[in-house]
Amino acid sequence: MAQILDGAVVRDKILGDLRPRIQKLARPPGLAVVLVGDNPASEIYVRNKIKACAELGIYSKKITPASTVSTEQLLAIIDELNADPSIDGILVQVPLPKQVDSRSVLEAVSAEKDADGFHPLNVGYLVAGRPAPRACTPAGIIELLKFYRIKIDGRRAVVLGRSDIVGKPMALMLLRENATVTICHSGTSNLIEECRRADILVAAMGKPAYLTSEYIAPGATVIDVGTNRIVDRDEAVRLGKAEEFDRKGWALVGDLNPIDVAGRAAAFTPVPGGVGPLTIAMLMSNTVALAEQHQ
Ligand code: NAP
Repeated sequence: MAQILDGAVVRDKILGDLRPRIQKLARPPGLAVVLVGDNPASEIYVRNKIKACAELGIYSKKITPASTVSTEQLLAIIDELNADPSIDGILVQVPLPKQVDSRSVLEAVSAEKDADGFHPLNVGYLVAGRPAPRACTPAGIIELLKFYRIKIDGRRAVVLGRSDIVGKPMALMLLRENATVTICHSGTSNLIEECRRADILVAAMGKPAYLTSEYIAPGATVIDVGTNRIVDRDEAVRLGKAEEFDRKGWALVGDLNPIDVAGRAAAFTPVPGGVGPLTIAMLMSNTVALAEQHQ
């Protein structure tokens, strides 16, 4: 039987370790969340982030400009938050509306308040192996591997995906842990062969149940970052998700075929319940670390 790597257990451990650190601070850490417009998915993400702050005793400030906001108006909001001494971390929820220059807005967040770890300076620190806020999802995956004592050092890791928020920082963090790392993307030839070489396979491609058993080395550890909605009942049934589909009218599936991964991997993260819970926990962790530096 493959071991299920339960993200909720690791999340609770991360949050539990933060509580005494927060209590030691002279004032509560502060996180500002900028949510532009009314994208329903973004609203849910932001609600969950603010809820996590409240449960942990982190002060949160939500700023909600209309979807018609201009780049200049958003830059003015970021400037104000950069100067606000009660705010330690700033998060701009993406995607931003089309008329906004997303890059200049994200890069306007001070590197010292970069709760998401996306600022180019902090990415540079990650490359250089220096401490700095780290991208939350891959940082959470490293915590999960360590929590379950899955050896990284000396092992072959394959990261499928090269986005700035998951794939690239994931590869750098695994490299820092002494894995031998391969990054795969849409231009990779022999994807099956590359994936099958992995002791640790991290899939972050956003393709529902794309990876079948032929991509997985028997005994590999498989981390499934993919978060994809299935809206076709037949597909949900084929993937063993009929019950979830009938309850909600849709089902969540990762990049791995859930039946294949359970039958072939030694350990894997389920979707939902694997990587998902870790991202917000690491956002809290980055915010607390920034508050410690500021105070
Ligand atoms: P992204 O920016 O769309 O990147 C996807 C990557 O996968 C790209 O590098 C792309 O290659 C590669 N790719 C796509 N199809 C491929 C194929 N057929 N063969 C090989 N490579 C392929 O996505 P992302 O933002 O990194 O997110 C990836 C997934 O993780 C999404 O499902 C997202 O919802 C999920 N996610 C979950 C969490 C969480 O907390 N659970 C957090 C973040 C993201 P190219 O670069 O060549 O195009």
